Amino acid sequence: TAAINLRGVEKTFVAKNETFQAVQRLDLSIGEGEFFSLLGPSGCGKTTTLRMIAGFEEPTAGEILLHGQNMVGVPPYKRDVNTVFQSYALFPHMTVEQNVAFGLERKRIGKAEVRTRVGEMLEIVGLGERGSRRPQQLSGGQQQRVALARALVNRPSALLLDEPLAALDLKLRQAMQVELKRIQREVGITFVFVTHDQGEALTMSDRIVVMNAGLIEQVGNPQELYERPRTRFVAGFLGTSNIMEGKVTRYDDGVALIDAGADGRVLVPTDDAAVGDRITISVRPEKIVLSHDEPPAGDRECSVQGTVEEMVYLGTSNTYEVRLNGGETVTVLEQNGSTADATAVRGDKVWLSWRPQHSL
Ligand code: ADP
Ligand code: MG
Repeated sequence: TAAINLRGVEKTFVAKNETFQAVQRLDLSIGEGEFFSLLGPSGCGKTTTLRMIAGFEEPTAGEILLHGQNMVGVPPYKRDVNTVFQSYALFPHMTVEQNVAFGLERKRIGKAEVRTRVGEMLEIVGLGERGSRRPQQLSGGQQQRVALARALVNRPSALLLDEPLAALDLKLRQAMQVELKRIQREVGITFVFVTHDQGEALTMSDRIVVMNAGLIEQVGNPQELYERPRTRFVAGFLGTSNIMEGKVTRYDDGVALIDAGADGRVLVPTDDAAVGDRITISVRPEKIVLSHDEPPAGDRECSVQGTVEEMVYLGTSNTYEVRLNGGETVTVLEQNGSTADATAVRGDKVWLSWRPQHSL
């Protein structure tokens, strides 16, 4: 059985006689020991979903199961999960050790065992030497680790984390991403991690659900979501993507030819198109090859023409902004080999080409 199951879960809030559906028909299955992320823009329903798993909110419809057990009506403290909030919510008047021991002491676990377990947990989060400090004597990242230790020391079967790194600055956040991943591997429990940061979700997760306006857009591992986004929203939300739009002028054998307003040919593999449809495609900047000469035609290549408007040298790579003859601007990312010479400079007329399978 899955560690966490959501079946047709919905949440409707009623405020001032207005109803608002924050979560709509969510079906999710999270595996034992998985690092699973809920990713999406602010307001898409991530926190609400997490709060329903924790038991702070009851679903309006549907059911939540933890290890196959239906959680309807089960209060938070009786669920085998713990939550780490963005605000660490540490007790300021207690030492680090006392903060971490708090939950265990309330469970009437013997003093010796509490000491051992607190000590072990502080080691795991890298605070073995800091047990007697108070929270305000610690940095933000260290306070975050205390909050983590406190949530993990009870040995819940799953840990729920709501944007736990959002308050940290970039460098610390990146260091903590690596740390969190290590800690999760070490304790081996299920993590459900909420973030609006796509880079964070991609680096840390085994699987990700991308949410938008209370609905699931796609569930998959980071590579699947990045390489094969099923919706334009996912393509746009996970990393830079060039969006082009055009009318289908030919459709056969599962490949549509679209007139994207740029001289050239844009081929899109699709099993659902008809001549005359308007369709939107997206292409990742790193999938596009830039050249001065016209690339070989044929069904294996998409190609469009444009003019380089900007070229930025980034050491190991160059990025170009190319204005297509149809008016749209496309970003191209070119990896540099041993020579850092750029293929083109501002003002050059160029061809951009990519494989049809990269038209998403
Ligand atoms: P996220 O965590 O993805 O930013 P939330 O789950 O916090 O999103 O919120 C989803 C939507 O539900 C938002 O539009 C929010 O305003 C609304 N919402 C959340 N909690 C409540 C509440 N208690 N009452 C009314 N609306 C709420
Ligand atoms: Mg939130």
